[in-house]
Amino acid sequence: MSLEPETLKTLVRAAAQQVIASTAELTALDQAIGDGDHGVNMKRGFEAVLGKLDTIGALPPDEALKTIGKTLVMTVGGASGPLYGSFFMAAGDALSQSRRLPDDLAEIFACGVGAVSARGRSQPGEKTMLDVLFPVLETLRAAVGNPDLIERVRMTATEATARTAPMQATKGRASFLGQRSIGHVDPGARSSCVLLHAVCDTLEARQ
Ligand code: ADP
Ligand code: MG
Repeated sequence: MSLEPETLKTLVRAAAQQVIASTAELTALDQAIGDGDHGVNMKRGFEAVLGKLDTIGALPPDEALKTIGKTLVMTVGGASGPLYGSFFMAAGDALSQSRRLPDDLAEIFACGVGAVSARGRSQPGEKTMLDVLFPVLETLRAAVGNPDLIERVRMTATEATARTAPMQATKGRASFLGQRSIGHVDPGARSSCVLLHAVCDTLEARQ
């Protein structure tokens, strides 16, 4: 897996476009157990990322990730903005320390996930985006270097997203609903899934 500027730009464009295309779905999920703004929050943030695509595409990958993170912090808002922002900024920092891709991919992803967990004071099992990000990290740790890595990440993300439905939220706005949060997929889990699928689909198409 290489990260030439053109690959990076294609990945960022695809991820942003898929999130924007999922606005209505993310809105509906957040209307069920939150305040209904997750779709619009993410759309605003990823439109801002798309607006900087040429700049981002010209940066080295670590700086590109940091710029994406800062852009999301400034534009997404809600709980998810600082969380996604932390993910990309921490992953960018980790990539600055270690440039051995794909060998270090799992550890770079781990730094992003750790930053979300620290910022959100949250753990897997609380019905948040971490319930997708953690299982995907486990898959990366187990399968980086395997030819079926992309398919495994995609399946992990899909299954982990579905597994948030029977959970009761104990973090974020959905936790205010108590047991009534049960039975709905978490919006942030779904947006993480959308982002991961966009990356997987794009990398697969380029293989
Ligand atoms: P808000 O909840 O402020 O309206 P969003 O609707 O944009 O913000 O984002 C909600 C999503 O953010 C949730 O579905 C959940 O996945 C994620 N989230 C909220 N709080 C936390 C937290 N403490 N840790 C991890 N993720 C969280
Ligand atoms: Mg919301």
